[in-house]
Amino acid sequence: MPAELTSVDAYAATVRALLPPAAPADVPLADADGLTLAEDLLARVALPTFDNSAMDGYAVRHADLNANGPTTLPVSADIPAGRTENEPLRPGTAARIMTGAPVPDGADTIVQVELTDAAQTGALPDQVTISEPVAAGRHIRPKGEEADAGDVLLPAGTVLTPAALGLAAASGHPTVRAYRRPAVLVLSTGSELVSPGEQLRPGQIYESNSVTLVSALRRIGANARALNLVADDVPTFNERLRDAASEADLIITSGGVSAGAYEVVKEALTGSVEFTKVGMQPGMPQGSGHFEGTPIITLPGNPVSVFVSFEVFVRPALLAWMGLPDTERPGFVGTWAGAAQSSPAGKRQFLRGVCDIPTGQVEPVGTPPSHMLASLARANCLAVVGEDVEAIGPGDEVEIWLLDSAL
Ligand code: AMP
Ligand code: MG
Repeated sequence: MPAELTSVDAYAATVRALLPPAAPADVPLADADGLTLAEDLLARVALPTFDNSAMDGYAVRHADLNANGPTTLPVSADIPAGRTENEPLRPGTAARIMTGAPVPDGADTIVQVELTDAAQTGALPDQVTISEPVAAGRHIRPKGEEADAGDVLLPAGTVLTPAALGLAAASGHPTVRAYRRPAVLVLSTGSELVSPGEQLRPGQIYESNSVTLVSALRRIGANARALNLVADDVPTFNERLRDAASEADLIITSGGVSAGAYEVVKEALTGSVEFTKVGMQPGMPQGSGHFEGTPIITLPGNPVSVFVSFEVFVRPALLAWMGLPDTERPGFVGTWAGAAQSSPAGKRQFLRGVCDIPTGQVEPVGTPPSHMLASLARANCLAVVGEDVEAIGPGDEVEIWLLDSAL
């Protein structure tokens, strides 16, 4: 690799080190999907919490049932779900009971309504005839069958899913101790940029990086927001960031870091941000450091460079910060199905591709230049060509990162 380039791996480590370790927080369950448990989740109550009926039917003492043939018992109680006082079952009687209702003391068996002559709805019958004997203990969900109070339900490090959050709720937790979502601010720079929906004048283009970044950040669970874009003007840039920086865990800018004139980000942040050239294509000009104490990553401006930089540096760093075990894209070795093409020596190349997942055949979409957003939008993978490789041709093995569009 040419001496003036930083390697992709070294720069990825720099970006990862930029974010201080995340502190766990108590996160309301409804906002915790996808977050990682910072502590073991303990059962606050037993699951089930009390012996309860698994069926609509009649609670009985098994000893009161005839071993052969039907049994008729007087009905002495009616127990809906939610009954909080538990009256013991009088011997020689049955209690009508609903699914989820507490089994009365003394009862050891539930007879489902289908095995009786009683209608489950309407007035309580005086007596019930049970058509056939049932096994002792039938249809009772015993207290603590799944967990006792204090048991570990899910270990620290578990990534919370809808079902895991249901379990936390069922065991009495209004919140979970988890690594919270990072608050990320996105700022696009460039005097040529106009927000979509507004009138373009000659020489202007529509701004697209902020929506790409905010959407990609939200996909990984970050709280992301775009600031209003700024022109290539250092005082405006500083002002825009200063107003918002303190509320962010991370700021991401795009544009203004390459080698031309009017590189607003470079001009404003030299000193507190280290600008570097990374051995990759696209995405070579990068910067990272702090803005008034808040970590900042300054991405290049080209839309494809922004996307690739996000994938290579930002996404893994934030996923690690959120305690997620898998910070890499699902990768595998595919087969290049495109024409032979050269690859820049000393740079890791990220090509947009469409991968046929069952066969691993990868067709390129678009050409390498990094402004080609249409081809990126059609791609479902990045094909990663190593620094040492100078050309790839049909049938060559190539590393594939599947993007969300493939999953
Ligand atoms: P820069 O790094 O600022 O020189 O930008 C590199 C290229 O990316 C230029 O062609 C810019 O017009 C384009 N560009 C920069 N920022 C954006 C943006 N937010 N949306 C779309 N294109 C952009
Ligand atoms: Mg610019």
